Amino acid sequence: MQEDTLKRIDAAAEAMKDQLVRLSLQIHAHPEIAFQERQSAAWLCELLAGAGFAVQKPVAGLETAFRADWLGRGARADADGASGAGAPVRRVPTVAILAEYDALPEVGHACGHNIIGVAAAGAGIALKQAVPDLVGRVVVMGTPAEEGGGGKIDMVNAGLFDDVDAAIMVHPTSGESKIGSTSLATHSIVFNFHGRPAHAAATPHLGINALDAVVQTYVNVSMLRQQMTPDARVHCLITKGGSVINIVPEEAEIRYLLRASTKENLATLVAKVKECAEAAARATGATLKMEEQVGYGARKLNVPLGNAFKAQLRRAGLEVADEPSPSGGSTDFGDVSQKVPAANAYVSIAPKGVAGHSREFAAAAASDAGMAALMVSVKAMAATALAALTDEELRSHMSRAHGARSSQSTIQ
Ligand SMILES: [Zn+2]
Ligand SMILES: [Zn+2]
Repeated sequence: MQEDTLKRIDAAAEAMKDQLVRLSLQIHAHPEIAFQERQSAAWLCELLAGAGFAVQKPVAGLETAFRADWLGRGARADADGASGAGAPVRRVPTVAILAEYDALPEVGHACGHNIIGVAAAGAGIALKQAVPDLVGRVVVMGTPAEEGGGGKIDMVNAGLFDDVDAAIMVHPTSGESKIGSTSLATHSIVFNFHGRPAHAAATPHLGINALDAVVQTYVNVSMLRQQMTPDARVHCLITKGGSVINIVPEEAEIRYLLRASTKENLATLVAKVKECAEAAARATGATLKMEEQVGYGARKLNVPLGNAFKAQLRRAGLEVADEPSPSGGSTDFGDVSQKVPAANAYVSIAPKGVAGHSREFAAAAASDAGMAALMVSVKAMAATALAALTDEELRSHMSRAHGARSSQSTIQ
């Protein structure tokens, strides 16, 4: 990429700085939780529409999801040229920059999504302004409910990424800035046990204790931990455990969230945990009902795209770890990365040790460091999107790394 193009991107970003910082702080001061991000989505759409993006909202049946498209002049000319009879329809190279803008209950923007949303919109607009003749399409994808609900999954399933060649996003972090490699795929299961009530002192032998089935499940799964793959994570809550002290508990329930770094490891884990509950039901005589929900897909890093992203973050003045590293958590960006070549950068806004989802992190998301991260993200994402649209060598490396098989939907 030419140096003067990159300089134009930086200048376009700097020219919008006050507006972007103001909007990010405004979203921070008005936290809206998953699927209720009405005002935040509206503000972002207003900014994008004002800058000449074609905004569709709602999309994928989600009130607070949007897709904002801008087609470069070069691509329009291309399309006109190819519109003669019999001319082949050329697909326009398309990059999606992902926006998140949901907050958390009680702690507000303690995951810093006020930075993600505005960075994505700013990057799209900076690229449009710096390279109006672009042969390509830039899409700012407004993805609600990352913290619970996974708007991106619905958007992938609704086909909003079908014409996308690459997807990028930033996320604030503490400590070192880095490119994210894997995140964990998730699956949740509720095991509901029904026993038989009986007088707990006079006739306990006539009862079936549903709480025992829950405790037995808990113990079985705890023992299973020794044989789980090291990437596996299992959390549980006992959500029902009987209600009257002198009655053998009739109903009890335990809820699990299971995670692993691959679809295969997760499938094995899910099957074994179910067996633990089934064994507990057999041992106690309780009947078992299961309710399960497939969660987020595992994130797959597209290494060539990740390297290009890293180079642009460094160019924008950020220190970035050499090697990509996994996140212990899970994100619906995983589902996007299973569909298209994708890279997710983590940009530091706080010193090491400041935990995500804490009040300290929420404060960092509105700090000078947070706003500096916002501006670095705008410049780096605009430049990375440009590279992914115009650098033929990068494009072929990206699609090779993604694999022919995954160019079809492989959402888990
Ligand atoms: Zn979060
Ligand atoms: Zn987050």
